Formats: sequence, C-alpha cells, structure tokens
Amino acid sequence: MKIAVCVKHVPEGQSRLDPASKRLDRSGEGALNHFDANAVEEALRLKGESDTEVVVVSLGPAKAADSLRKALAMGADRAVLVSDDGAVGSDLVATSKALAKALERESADLVLFGQQASDGDGAVLWAAVAERLHRPVVSQVTELTLQDGSLRVKRQTEFGYDVIEAPLPAVIAVSDAINEPRYPSLKGIMGAKKKPFETLSLADIGVDAGEAGEAGSKTEVLALGEPPSRGDARKIEDDGSAAQQIFDFLAEKRLV
Ligand SMILES: Cc1cc2nc3c(=O)[nH]c(=O)nc-3n(C[C@H](O)[C@H](O)[C@H](O)COP(=O)(O)OP(=O)(O)OC[C@H]3O[C@@H](n4cnc5c(N)ncnc54)[C@H](O)[C@@H]3O)c2cc1C
Repeated sequence: MKIAVCVKHVPEGQSRLDPASKRLDRSGEGALNHFDANAVEEALRLKGESDTEVVVVSLGPAKAADSLRKALAMGADRAVLVSDDGAVGSDLVATSKALAKALERESADLVLFGQQASDGDGAVLWAAVAERLHRPVVSQVTELTLQDGSLRVKRQTEFGYDVIEAPLPAVIAVSDAINEPRYPSLKGIMGAKKKPFETLSLADIGVDAGEAGEAGSKTEVLALGEPPSRGDARKIEDDGSAAQQIFDFLAEKRLV
C-alpha cells in the first residue's frame, strides 16, 4: 500500500501582498502548513496498521524542502519536491495540474490532503487534483478506515456526519479534528536527513512551460486595494466598562 500526502510550505507571520507581483510575499520564513500535519499524522497512523509506504509531495520553492523534512522527521518514508521557476505565479488550475502530474508518477492507493492551506485558504485544491486524477474525493474527513481495497470515512457536515464508502485509489482531505499531530522526535529529525528526497523540475513530471506559472493560469490579478472602511464602526477600548458600552450600543440599535 502506498499513501501520498500533499503538503504545502506556507509563509509564517503576518501575510503581505507584494504590490509588484500582486502575489503573496513568500520571501520570508516559512513552515509546514499546520493543517497538513494532520494529513501526515493520519498517513502514519495507517502505516502503523499495515505494510505501507508514506511519500510526502509538495510543489513549491526550494525552501519547501524544510516542510518536507519535517514530515520525514514525523515518520514519512520519502519526499518529492517539485520546484521550478516556471511554476511561480501558478493559480489553482496550474497548481492542480502540476500536483496531479507529480501524483500520477507515484500511483498511490490513497492521496491525503490537509483541509486547507493557511495562506491561500482556498480549501479546494484536493477537489481539482481528484478531478484531474479521475478519483473519488471526500473532504472534511474526521475518521478513516481502510478495508479490502476500499475506504470508509466519517465526513463532518454542518448537521452531523455522513458515512461514505469509496473504492481505492481515492483522494481524501482530512479535517483538523481527525487527530493530534505528533511532534518530531530528535531521532526522527536525525533520521530524516538520510531518507530519500527527490527534487523534480516541471519537465521531469511532464508539465510543459505553457501549463504552469502565469502561462498556465486562468486567474489574473488586475489590482490590489484596501478593503473599504466601515463608516459607522465604533472602536471600544476596554477600561472596565466595555461590556456596558457594547450593551448600550446594541440597545441603541434595538438589537437587544
Ligand atoms: C494569480 C495567482 C498567482 C499565484 N501565484 C502563486 C505563487 O507564485 N506561488 C504560490 O505558492 N502560490 C501562488 N498562488 C496560490 C496558489 O495558486 C494556491 O496556493 C494553490 O492553488 C492552492 O490553493 P490554496 O493555497 O488555497 O490551497 P487549499 O486548496 O486551501 O489547500 C488544500 C490542501 O492542498 C494541499 N496543497 C496546497 N498547496 C499545495 C502545494 N503547493 N503543494 C502540495 N500540496 C498543496 C495541502 O494538503 C492543503 O492542505 C497564486 C494564486 C493566484 C490566483
């Protein structure tokens, strides 16, 4: 059994949009998207139950290697980083294309995603990748069991849970409620340095220049601007009377 886990290297700290590129400034420090740690943890749990290889896959800059190494330190077996200047400026369409190509190469029985990336917050890449791979997809999964070539999951909904069965190979986006990710141990961190780590270009995974980066994207950011200010907003500094002031404000608006 092979499980591929898609992980993203995301900027740390306050987000800033670069006015020149009109994209998120990714030049500072970055870290493993914390939602993806849940996906890595789930893969490791399943690995503990059967003979399974866990490969972590990322599309990103060279420094995304740090996030992949963290996943290796947690216990993943192998890492694949697709890193190429030609991928800069990839929107969802171009990102899903490259990621799907990298995953095709792995032919995993199960592809795991986190629920969302903490920078883009799109919570949609897994659906686009599953569509490209022609595989069933279930999101918001809070419980996952594998059995005889199929899977059974609990999917969290607004009103409770759906129980869904699907054949493998499949794509699953786990909820952050599914588990508590482990911290890498010192032994894990040292061991991660010796684990197989492959860095691939777009050409290596069969993605043409016109299918990635700005050329392969369907989205164009035309302009950046401040959100409109809220004219009648009132700021309350808490000097001990904030609760009363909020109550008076709501009463004035006839909301209480
Ligand atoms: C015009 C435009 C230009 C852009 N340019 C860039 C750019 O230059 N560089 C850049 O990094 N982003 C860029 N982006 C953002 C990029 O397209 C999104 O990050 C990507 O489509 C995923 O969307 P998301 O971040 O909302 O992820 P979500 O849909 O919220 O992510 C869900 C899950 O998908 C997986 N995942 C997400 N991204 C990756 C990844 N890269 N590798 C592996 N797994 C992943 C994770 O498991 C994650 O939990 C650009 C977007 C636009 C619209």
